Amino acid sequence: MHTFPPQHRDDIPSLTIVVPCYNEEEVFAFCVAELKSLLKRAIEEKKITAQSHILFVDDGSRDKTWSLIKQAAQTDNLVHGIRLSRNRGHQIALMAGLSCAETNISVSIDADLQDDTACIPKMIEKYMEGNEIVYGVRSDRSSDSFFKRWSANSFYKLMEVMGIQQVANHADFRLLSRRALHSLLQFEEQNIYLRGMIPLLGYRSTQVFYARKERCAGESKYPFYKMLSLAIEGITSLTIKPLRLISLLGAFTCLISILISIFVVVQKFYGHVLLGWASVEISIFFLGGVQLLCLGVIGEYIGKIYMETKHRPKFFIQDKI
Ligand code: UDP
Ligand code: MG
Repeated sequence: MHTFPPQHRDDIPSLTIVVPCYNEEEVFAFCVAELKSLLKRAIEEKKITAQSHILFVDDGSRDKTWSLIKQAAQTDNLVHGIRLSRNRGHQIALMAGLSCAETNISVSIDADLQDDTACIPKMIEKYMEGNEIVYGVRSDRSSDSFFKRWSANSFYKLMEVMGIQQVANHADFRLLSRRALHSLLQFEEQNIYLRGMIPLLGYRSTQVFYARKERCAGESKYPFYKMLSLAIEGITSLTIKPLRLISLLGAFTCLISILISIFVVVQKFYGHVLLGWASVEISIFFLGGVQLLCLGVIGEYIGKIYMETKHRPKFFIQDKI
């Protein structure tokens, strides 16, 4: 958390609410109604300007999501939409939406509205107090399954060990000022883990707290393998500590093998005959496993370097409305 002296703002800001959607036809109607009424209220109360709007990002959905977005945009100019040319995942969908936001502030929120929309006015207040980044933090995760809570906690601990600064219990529900957003868009990497990247921006930031709700309808688009891959992405895109740990592990196994060699020589002097093919077998397998694991970790980084060197565009916007 960065604490620069507060700089209160006076001008009413314009707001874009960026909502990534992947096969969200079940939740769309609820989501758009809720966000529209929130925006209308905030515009009436002169908390945000009338240029404010919602920007839905259709992340290559295969259901009716895009036609619902189009319909909503045609009937109300508070609703805008972009459609990516194919499914690129939550993080890139967010980046795509954010890169289109031209307003003073942007708030990103998931389409299932598990995050409390009542926090958005609070976030705007915090922005008016001079913050550039406002993190939405879940103070209560009782709606998540035991496994999700446990895996999230283990992940935060692991990130801490790896020295990665991250706001615990913060998903991608956050406000960014235009300045923070422009800084973020200068990150050119392909491997995106926003939760780890945003704290790297610096700037004055703060948090608002809320209780996370159940998904309003539909199913999670984050099955276990996607969560795991996001976690690996998070670690490998932000730190090279695992590579250093491998070196340490290598040094440690060398040390052990030297100690064992000394032990064997000493035993020989005392005339003990050493039995123990089993232990030889086990250590061969064990070391083989360790080496493969280490190669895998190194490979992960080399793969990342390869992907980054291509400088491929992260997404294509197929339609805009
Ligand atoms: N999402 C997306 N692309 C994907 C997967 C998910 O844009 O490939 C969106 C999804 O529509 C939702 C948000 O990302 O708005 C978070 O997904 P979800 O709510 O399923 O995740 P969970 O809350 O279960 O972690
Ligand atoms: Mg969700």
